[in-house]
Amino acid sequence: SVRVAQRFASVERSATVALLETVQRLRRSGVEVLDLSGGEPDFPTPEPVVAEAVSALESGDTHYTPSRGVPELLRAVADKLAVENGIHVDPATGVIVTPSAKQALFTALMTVLDPGDEVIVPTPAWVSYPAMAGLLGARAVSAELGAEDGFRLSRRVLDGLVTDRTRALVVNTPANPTGHVLDREEAEEIVAFAVEYDLVLIVDEIYEKIVYDGRVHLSLASLPGAAERTLTVNGFSKAYAMTGWRLGYLAGPEPLISQALKVQEHTVSCAASFVQRGGVAALTRTADDVAAMLKEYTVRRDMTVSALEALPGVTCASPEGAFYAFADIRGTGLTSAAFAQRLLDEAAVTVAPGSAFGPGGEGYVRLSFAASREVLRGAAERLSRLAAQWA
Ligand code: PLP
Repeated sequence: SVRVAQRFASVERSATVALLETVQRLRRSGVEVLDLSGGEPDFPTPEPVVAEAVSALESGDTHYTPSRGVPELLRAVADKLAVENGIHVDPATGVIVTPSAKQALFTALMTVLDPGDEVIVPTPAWVSYPAMAGLLGARAVSAELGAEDGFRLSRRVLDGLVTDRTRALVVNTPANPTGHVLDREEAEEIVAFAVEYDLVLIVDEIYEKIVYDGRVHLSLASLPGAAERTLTVNGFSKAYAMTGWRLGYLAGPEPLISQALKVQEHTVSCAASFVQRGGVAALTRTADDVAAMLKEYTVRRDMTVSALEALPGVTCASPEGAFYAFADIRGTGLTSAAFAQRLLDEAAVTVAPGSAFGPGGEGYVRLSFAASREVLRGAAERLSRLAAQWA
């Protein structure tokens, strides 16, 4: 029989992608599924972005671009990072535009991890970080976070995890699935930790535009001493409702970015030309759209949290950022997988079981509120009817 590479031994298929496939299959067979399992904004991509990409297509902008990205977008990213994030990079040497944040993350991890190396991943975490480490023959080591301190990361959790193979720490702020937003004291502790053990920080800021109650997103690379060891990853999927466009970027110090560029050159060459033109419009002409989406997410967050809090055995802290409610279901006596399965089988509502997000995730389920109010209201009704049975 054919042989596949050893690296797949530790890698599962994406649990959230599998859920999406289940939803599509059920819908084809006529079931009216209310899907809260995904991470996809239901908003249309803002009009200036679409118009710019269409005009790029019509004007023949349909060929390879420089591997790093088109100069206009590199400049727009560098300007944005300077103004909004306090991150200062040279657009010519410190940024790579990638086809998706996922690709930027994979490139970042490949840039710093050799086979056998370790990367610390605070969990519960987005499912792809440990999988990507596995695909590279490296190992993700979980730093388990807890609800008692709001899923904050601290030296207390980190210090015992370092070995002579530890090369990097992944930080995701605002965090998927917990909704935690990094605070300054936490950020300072993380940077001190990375400096002490000479680690690279790989920081995924894809939810930066989605922070609530006047909180301010803080970029780790803006802290003193951090820039020289931080790779910042971001993307257009969430902030600008551009999941299908596949556009993101990686920014950091030249010695790391120059190596990362080799990954890009020898794999994808570049992000799609007209998509990059749309990206320039997203960064420069969508402030009103982004503000309107945040306002709507805030309403949906409050609807979702109060619906969850009304269920017997369920509690839910209001997320500080991103668009997920991470509900504590321990009071129901069900495992997260059993809870999610019952919701699917008995109410046709899909949620992601906390167990999919690694150590610390059991006892929770993640509900995305990047769905319309109508879908959220429908799901709330179905859940309260079902909960009457387990109460
Ligand atoms: N990072 C996190 C934390 C995410 O939740 C997601 C999407 O689900 C991504 C990265 C991937 O974004 P992209 O669509 O740009 O690949």
